[in-house]
Amino acid sequence: MKITQEVESNEVQLLRKSVQEFCKKEVADYYQQWERDGLVPRELWNKLGEQGFLLMEVPEKYGGLGTTYQYSAVIMEEFYRLGFNSIGANISVHGLITAQYILNYGTERQKEYYLPRMATGELVGAVAMTEPNAGSDLQGIKALARYDETRNEYVISGSKTFITNGQHCDFVVVVAKTDQNVKPSRGTTLFIVDVPAAGFERGRNLEKLGLHSCDTSELFFDEVRVGEDAILGKKNEGFRILMSELPRERLTIAVSAIASMEGVLDSTIQYTKERELFGTTLDHFQNTRFVIADLYAKMEVHRAFVNECIKLLTENKLDTVKASMAKLTCSELQGQVIDECLQLYGGYGYMMEYPVARAFVDARVQRIYGGTSEIMKKIISNELFSK
Ligand SMILES: Cc1cc2nc3c(=O)[nH]c(=O)nc-3n(C[C@H](O)[C@H](O)[C@H](O)COP(=O)(O)OP(=O)(O)OC[C@H]3O[C@@H](n4cnc5c(N)ncnc54)[C@H](O)[C@@H]3O)c2cc1C
Repeated sequence: MKITQEVESNEVQLLRKSVQEFCKKEVADYYQQWERDGLVPRELWNKLGEQGFLLMEVPEKYGGLGTTYQYSAVIMEEFYRLGFNSIGANISVHGLITAQYILNYGTERQKEYYLPRMATGELVGAVAMTEPNAGSDLQGIKALARYDETRNEYVISGSKTFITNGQHCDFVVVVAKTDQNVKPSRGTTLFIVDVPAAGFERGRNLEKLGLHSCDTSELFFDEVRVGEDAILGKKNEGFRILMSELPRERLTIAVSAIASMEGVLDSTIQYTKERELFGTTLDHFQNTRFVIADLYAKMEVHRAFVNECIKLLTENKLDTVKASMAKLTCSELQGQVIDECLQLYGGYGYMMEYPVARAFVDARVQRIYGGTSEIMKKIISNELFSK
């Protein structure tokens, strides 16, 4: 139940419906088990590809559907609204982030090879920036890509951690230093590394608080050799490329936060209508209604800002500060909304078989990945105080 119903084209409504039907048929009955397994089955990627859900925005000539960001946002919204957050996170990294790096900065050969295979789910992509000692402070990365003149190859060594799609991925966009004599922001390069490869090792599938079936891993590179054609974009311009795509990543987290809140609020309203106590149902208490009204109002106000950001992104005008504001406020509100909804479930809210419990644990990371809330505040305040 939406209070502000956006006027959506038939095409967008059809896409929503097809994601809903897909989830009903291919996900709902199995999701709990995948969450226990810590991984979705590989075939799910192919099924998502068959439906065209993986690379919406990539032009048709590279196997995508050639849509705007709005369509990718719809895919995110439906997976998160229905509570299949791990799959949303898997798709987001693969189709909304990794594919965009390749589309916007790849050579023709890279685009022709990777994108169509990513669209079908034959290849799964990941992005490896974070290292054990470099997360928020990405300039602290140690991974090194040494140039071997004798063979015209780069030799990559280093460790990455917390990498989404780390178990399933068939290639990784690796951030590594290529010039140690300058600041990392000017001496870092992105490489597309096909895996498995000699010297590459996947760490274990990390056990997380939430997003259990979204695989997250350490990745180890010990003298992994790649040709010059593995460079994504220009040498030493890795940071500029990463920065250019961050607004999209942060907006996507904001989009997923709104959708998750909406799903949880709607199911909480339903629950309170059914829960009997003190000779009535929970929805009859003024506290219940006021809590829900307050949270719903806040969500809708945030949705309006996110919709504005989606429009800006589509016009190529979304800046880092606005995207950071959306990410900060929506992920923080998501935490509050789901916590207060869980309270209305009483003890049942603490049981993992209730979707609100899963939504609660899944929500926590939204304030951490894609740049923590503190880093968002740093970006926003730097802009405000620079004038
Ligand atoms: C589930 C999950 C999936 C992820 N997926 C990926 C992925 O696919 N690829 C990838 O590269 N990375 C990924 N990450 C990594 C993620 O982006 C980092 O965890 C995040 O950027 C924070 O870095 P950190 O964990 O090193 O924390 P730290 O940087 O060590 O931060 C610790 C604390 O210090 C605070 N802090 C840091 N700097 C400042 C400052 N200047 N001022 C005030 N406070 C500060 C932080 O806000 C935080 O509270 C993922 C992480 C998780 C948990």
